[in-house]
Amino acid sequence: MVMNPGTIKKLNLLDFDQQALRGFFESLEEKSFRAQQLINWVHQRGIDDFNAMTNVSKSLRLRLESIAEIRPPKVVMTQTSVDGTYKWLLELDRPEGKSGPSNRIEMVFIPEPGRGTLCISSQVGCSLDCTFCSTAQQGFNRNLTTGEIIGQLWLARKLLSAHGLTGAITNVVLMGMGEPLLNFNNVVPALKLMMDDQAYGLSKRRVTLSTAGVVPMIDRLRAETDVSLAVSLHAPDNALRDKLVPINKKFPLEELMPACRRYLDKQNKRRITFEYVMLDNINDQPQHARALAALLKDIPSKINLIPFNPFPNTVYKRSPDKVIERFSMYLQKQGYVATVRKTRGDDIDAACGQLVGNVQDRSGRQIRFERRYANA
Ligand code: SAH
Repeated sequence: MVMNPGTIKKLNLLDFDQQALRGFFESLEEKSFRAQQLINWVHQRGIDDFNAMTNVSKSLRLRLESIAEIRPPKVVMTQTSVDGTYKWLLELDRPEGKSGPSNRIEMVFIPEPGRGTLCISSQVGCSLDCTFCSTAQQGFNRNLTTGEIIGQLWLARKLLSAHGLTGAITNVVLMGMGEPLLNFNNVVPALKLMMDDQAYGLSKRRVTLSTAGVVPMIDRLRAETDVSLAVSLHAPDNALRDKLVPINKKFPLEELMPACRRYLDKQNKRRITFEYVMLDNINDQPQHARALAALLKDIPSKINLIPFNPFPNTVYKRSPDKVIERFSMYLQKQGYVATVRKTRGDDIDAACGQLVGNVQDRSGRQIRFERRYANA
């Protein structure tokens, strides 16, 4: 039988972390140290051409070329903001027989003095139905593969280098589309590659996974990695959280908060970031601030207040700046680290909530406050 090579998908080597790649080379009856070499070429140096991998024998290079490839997502559109924020619309492979535009995700790069944060997606769409989130309106389409998750970082490094921004990505946040803990098996190998010294070598403090609170998976994450954890809290009590983040009905605060504490167990000097979207007259009143302070009383935390980013047909409005300031000041007076996320890339609509990075308003006062808190 003659097969048309065009119809056979090659293996995407971006799908493999170091351990999986060792297994792959063993299956080819090659030495497992090849995994380290390949990861070094592909992830550390950004090479996608097997022929350029000069410490790999010619015959293995040819063999790899015939069965495998490095296949990152494709760029459909690039937008650049006056503040240096980049936003890319990316297209993923379409599963056989599926049509429609729903195989697209967004990726955002946010530069700040001293650091650069890449915000990546883990699913096309999302199944969680948070009422203030625009991704929820699209429904859930599919999980990203490991190659599509790490492929965003691989691609962003290349794209930014072409703009003279080599080495600009210092932090990665999984705060784009999707709930990363509901795509656990594909997300974890991507996290491992981010922290693998042979690959991207990012420290655990510079890789953040954000979750709406899938409690059993928080424990599994802790067993597998020690990335930084952000939790989308958005309400200080079950009644309100049930409405805003419906997964709270399944995993209410009395289960979520102990899971957060367990995540920090034995992790010296680490904190959980609690994200709190500021919705006008919904969750931004003094009684909410008081309840929030009480809820977080014995968890090392950092509270990230996110001004709501409106989208068409939403019933919510952004809290006025004064209300956000009052909320933040109250928390600070209670001894919490509370920062207000600056909206970035407004002119290109990059700050659409789920795609903004972990950008904080570090005014002098807050930095002083943080130092005091750190030394307390
Ligand atoms: N599913 C994960 C990660 C994606 S959302 C999670 O829930 O954490 C990343 C962050 O953006 C979350 O805190 C989310 O609640 C918030 N977000 C979503 N829509 C928003 C909006 N319209 N305005 C402001 N923040 C929003």
